[in-house]
Amino acid sequence: MAAQSNTGHGGRRWHVLLFPLPYQGHINPMLHLAGLLHARGFAITVFHTHNNAPDPARHPDYRFVPVPDGMSGPAPVAILDVVAHIIAMGRACEAAFRDCLAAFLEEYSRDAVACLVADTHLLPVFEVATTLRVPTLSLRTGSAACCSCFLAYPMLFEKDYLPVQESQRDMPVIELPPYRVRDLVAVAEDHGGLERELIARAVAAMKLSSGVILNTFDALERRELERLRRDLAMPVFDIGPLHKFSPAGDSSRLLRQDRTCLDWLDAWPPESVLYVSFGSLACVSARDLAETAWGIAGSGVPFLWVVRPGLVRGSSADPDPDDHHHLLEGFEAATRGRGMVVAWAPQEEVLRHRSVGGFWTHAGWNSTAESVCEGVPMLCRPCFGDQMGNARYVEHLWRVGFEVGGGLEKGSVEAAVRRLMTDRDGAEMRARAGELKKAAAEYTRKGGSSCLAIDKLVAHMISLSD
Ligand code: UDP
Repeated sequence: MAAQSNTGHGGRRWHVLLFPLPYQGHINPMLHLAGLLHARGFAITVFHTHNNAPDPARHPDYRFVPVPDGMSGPAPVAILDVVAHIIAMGRACEAAFRDCLAAFLEEYSRDAVACLVADTHLLPVFEVATTLRVPTLSLRTGSAACCSCFLAYPMLFEKDYLPVQESQRDMPVIELPPYRVRDLVAVAEDHGGLERELIARAVAAMKLSSGVILNTFDALERRELERLRRDLAMPVFDIGPLHKFSPAGDSSRLLRQDRTCLDWLDAWPPESVLYVSFGSLACVSARDLAETAWGIAGSGVPFLWVVRPGLVRGSSADPDPDDHHHLLEGFEAATRGRGMVVAWAPQEEVLRHRSVGGFWTHAGWNSTAESVCEGVPMLCRPCFGDQMGNARYVEHLWRVGFEVGGGLEKGSVEAAVRRLMTDRDGAEMRARAGELKKAAAEYTRKGGSSCLAIDKLVAHMISLSD
């Protein structure tokens, strides 16, 4: 995309300030957004916590401002710890962010700052910016459907959909079709308070902002976007799929990508390889890992599997490249020549590779969007948060995959892999995914709907500083 010139008062270049939540699934879309705004002529400044700090050397065109977050130790991996961590981190960096932002505004004339875009989960960042009279936009990194679910949380409790009762798990949520109770963003009942707080804070952040940016597009979520616009009563910019506008390459990765898997994929026939990855946070039990491994082995399907450090509950999250080898003892020998296991993959490129014919995923929103945009059907094994809801859309609405629920057994894994990769059923899902891929290409071409939404976003950003 050609860089356009956006100049502020006195002919100075407009600045957009960004503040991502420091998790991989949140950093990626924010840096994709940075890439596309930079291509539109904005100067970019990224405020970031010390936790999972980006590497400025990989983004020489941006300015980076570290904000002390007062949090010690590595980022947590268990989901409830993650929820608590997000809330605590936002609070912990509030005072430091106020100082950093005030210093920045001193140095750069306030007139040249168009706005600040922050992750929806960083409420204190919105509060500080509002106090310092910097307009804000909120980047929500999940789907529009999930965003509506956040807004509907009080109603979901009022009408007793939540907390989830075991006997009601399959009950439809009439107000949010096609969700069932089991698809809602909800952790275990006894921890509901924490999750509820996280969601209430996200809604407060959205309402404090002058608009919401979503990594989705009309072909995926037309009805959901309409509902959201109605419920939020503020501008909603559906500018996805973001990675199609500004591919990340290796630049935003917290773990080092093993790019040798791309050469390995070259050797396989089109659409023959199953790609397996559970994203950056989801964990599995050692038993589930073994059943998955032996089920995939039994299917006879070639596979590329991401076993990241810390994937197995209780294992070390230190990036030791040999960590996964002992966990899968015997398995690699049994599948030699037919499979490859890596600690982290260049996922966007893997999904784009012609040899990849299916994706076993935890159904994180980025992974889901990346997969549909490459026409790759999915086998979903959601773990927490919005993943159950995403899997519901994959299976029920877009019909480009299906969920593997319940306890994992080698035999059921084997059958599911075959269904996706070699059965007619899977071929039909692949064909439907191919249609979504075409739609994504149409939306992101020059003059396409997502491009027009970006034009509107740029105009909105500039208008905010008037
Ligand atoms: N990803 C990657 N390499 C991997 C696994 C994941 O680059 O081996 C990227 C993937 O492309 C996606 C992000 O990590 O952009 C994961 O985000 P998602 O929302 O799917 O899941 P989360 O990690 O937030 O649970």
